[in-house]
Amino acid sequence: MVERIKQWVSYLILSFEILIFMTDFMKLFLRCIIFILPLGILAQQLQSPSEFLGYELGTQFTRHHEVVDYYQYLSETASDRVQLQVYGKTNERRPLLLAFVSSATNMQNLEAIREEQLKSTEGTGNATKAIVWLSYNVHGNESVSTEASMQTIYELLTSKKAYLENTVVIIDPCINPDGRDRYVNWYNQYKNTPNQVNPDSKEHHEGWWSGRSNHYMFDLNRDWAWLTQVESQQRLIMYNQWLPHIHVDFHEQGVDNPYFFAPSAEPFHEVITNFQRSFQETLGRNHAKYFDANGWFYFTKERFDLFYPSYGDTYPTYNGAIGMTYEQGGSGRAGLGVITGIGDTLTLRDRIAHHQTTGLSTVEVAANNAAQLNEEFRKFYQPKNYKYKSYVLNGDGDKMEVLIQLLEQHGINYGWAKEGVVKGFLYKTGKSGSLRTSKQTMVISTNQKKGTLVKVLFEPNAKLSDSLTYDITAWSLPHAYGLDALASESMVATGLSSLDFDSAMTPDPNAYGYITDWNSMKDARFLAALLEKGIRVRHAQKPFTLDGKSYQRGSLIITRGDNQNNKKFLPILEETATSFRKQLTATQTGFVDQGKDFGSGSVRMVPHVKVGVLSGDPASTLRFGEIWHFFEKQLHYPLTVLDADYIKRVDLSKYNVLILPDGRGYSRFIDESMLGQLKEWVANGGRLIAMGGAIGAIDGKEGFGIKSKEKKKDSTETDVELYENAQRERMKQAITGAIFKTKVDPTHPLAFGYGDTYFTLKLGNDGYEYLNSGTVAYIENETKPVAGFAGSEAQKKMGKTLVFGVEGHGRGQVVYMVDNPLFRGFWENGKLFFANALFMVD
Ligand SMILES: [Zn+2]
Repeated sequence: MVERIKQWVSYLILSFEILIFMTDFMKLFLRCIIFILPLGILAQQLQSPSEFLGYELGTQFTRHHEVVDYYQYLSETASDRVQLQVYGKTNERRPLLLAFVSSATNMQNLEAIREEQLKSTEGTGNATKAIVWLSYNVHGNESVSTEASMQTIYELLTSKKAYLENTVVIIDPCINPDGRDRYVNWYNQYKNTPNQVNPDSKEHHEGWWSGRSNHYMFDLNRDWAWLTQVESQQRLIMYNQWLPHIHVDFHEQGVDNPYFFAPSAEPFHEVITNFQRSFQETLGRNHAKYFDANGWFYFTKERFDLFYPSYGDTYPTYNGAIGMTYEQGGSGRAGLGVITGIGDTLTLRDRIAHHQTTGLSTVEVAANNAAQLNEEFRKFYQPKNYKYKSYVLNGDGDKMEVLIQLLEQHGINYGWAKEGVVKGFLYKTGKSGSLRTSKQTMVISTNQKKGTLVKVLFEPNAKLSDSLTYDITAWSLPHAYGLDALASESMVATGLSSLDFDSAMTPDPNAYGYITDWNSMKDARFLAALLEKGIRVRHAQKPFTLDGKSYQRGSLIITRGDNQNNKKFLPILEETATSFRKQLTATQTGFVDQGKDFGSGSVRMVPHVKVGVLSGDPASTLRFGEIWHFFEKQLHYPLTVLDADYIKRVDLSKYNVLILPDGRGYSRFIDESMLGQLKEWVANGGRLIAMGGAIGAIDGKEGFGIKSKEKKKDSTETDVELYENAQRERMKQAITGAIFKTKVDPTHPLAFGYGDTYFTLKLGNDGYEYLNSGTVAYIENETKPVAGFAGSEAQKKMGKTLVFGVEGHGRGQVVYMVDNPLFRGFWENGKLFFANALFMVD
């Protein structure tokens, strides 16, 4: 019987195998028919994306792993002309990859071609090939791009292979796979079958967690210069190994917009060369030829400008490339097909066709102009005679250390000054003056390969040719990093020295305690690590001196007494101090020479706070993401995400700190009952951090001291304005990311570690009166920004306004952050305010 069953089972397996074989055979047979018939005349039997994926491209969204499979397939099947390089992984572990495509001969010499390209930046070598880099889908829900990339590479390998004789094309099929798969998976879950073109249907309404940004809800197209995200960090290593002649960033915009391609709109940054401008025109005209032939609509020279340096078009431009943004109409709203405003149906296939056309047209123009591209690229890298030759920086070692890391990622050289005095423009005063230099003074010169990028990132105030811009208008790194800086019109000599990093501690088991300073984000990370490891830490609310050394407010005090029940106290402290390179000073006594003794009420325990942050509408996704990223990737401290959907049912008493990120629509969210709940929680000891738009919802509410400033009108008469000028008139009210000088009260715990001045990046024109008490950072009467654009009316409104402040309520506090110190994660000098709001304020 058993034998029979065995026999029967093996028959079954055999027939199953035959069935599989037959199905495979059928598949193979069908594929052969698909291929042999049309490709009989072509030598290559390369499968198109549609053939490989098993559906017509544009009728489905392709998930990232399938995209990777297709590129893998190409690199195996056309291995003489395609090479793949995996250059990293995303937060969600998806691979990031580049495909290098060129003729077989070029591919054999790929490394030599790359070396020649880099030699051009040194003014040597004999580079002849055009290098074109096509980046797709930096915004995840602008989902056509990756689809178009597959058809583009296929055409380059088949119908357009002539372009590759003198051109190397580098394709990044998806800069942001986490965001794109978030969109694609969402769409696949919610789409109608067949897809519904009616824009009312759910498939056209992505939720709050949209696919535009990356895992941490960062916009990767604002991150090229700041490199806060893993995708950008890993990509830039590759980018600097090639420095292409042309870089295209493929995007999508609203459904009803016609296609946008080069030339870009004003303002152009003044460093952009005439050739870079004119070549954009050359490219645009070639694209127009194809669009005209097909009757497709497009626009140029409007909306998408070249100024803010952290974009996929400007950053390459400041590195010598022709950097461009191409925008298709579509985005997360478009799905596989959608009815547009004028009643046409826009399909994914249309969107693919347009991006494919501009991609191929770009490579065509590059191939036809390889000699000129090489000549002009070499010229770009010749020394430029910029007004400021050297930027000279003094400041805290921790801040220098983070800046050094950024400079090295960008391939920017720096040196160290000699003892002396230099003259030039002083950032702190906005006037000419002098700065004392030492061997700890950093010098960055514009007389270097990346000199243009140095100018763009460091100059006190970038020249704005037009105030109608798409983004922030100021970012000067000395202000962002909180360093004392001077711009010199002559070269400042550098000597042989380097930054003295703090050395690690040697533990003294008999010490009464250890003291360390508090003035940087590194110190905040060190504190967070100690708290997480169960070490109890105090901080000094007042300055003190001990053993002849003086300590500022906020200094951390770690005592044996506080940690006597922790057997691993010393090993943990030593290990943590070593890994952060934090210098701890041991003391044998808690009896200070001046100030308050360690047992005083002014030496407070740092609470191991439990923190919650609001996600979902009304918070902005990007502003929420900055907080999320700050906790997990910068501070390394746990955070609980409380969604707006259910936060009203959460027992808030479990949290010490609740953060309301900037956003719109808070007035709906914070209704009477929510306001009551928050008030009670604060009165019982909670700390509410209200940022940006969240402040608006409690503005003027009973029990809160925050009050928005009334707009001041300069005249009572209303002038008649031309309709045509309306947009420009509105700009008078606007502040588009400008830097303002603020006064700081350094005695307040929210400002521990700061001096009496702070430069804030102001992103809008919200103005609030000073608080009755607890005004910590504020604008006085001087309302002209030190850098960037602020409209005349908006400036008037900024006089005597609050930037950061703290208000006590019962046993708790409300921390107001009118400006956002975590904006895009790059305003390094603002982050300690946020850390103070968590650990120092009480
Ligand atoms: Zn985009």
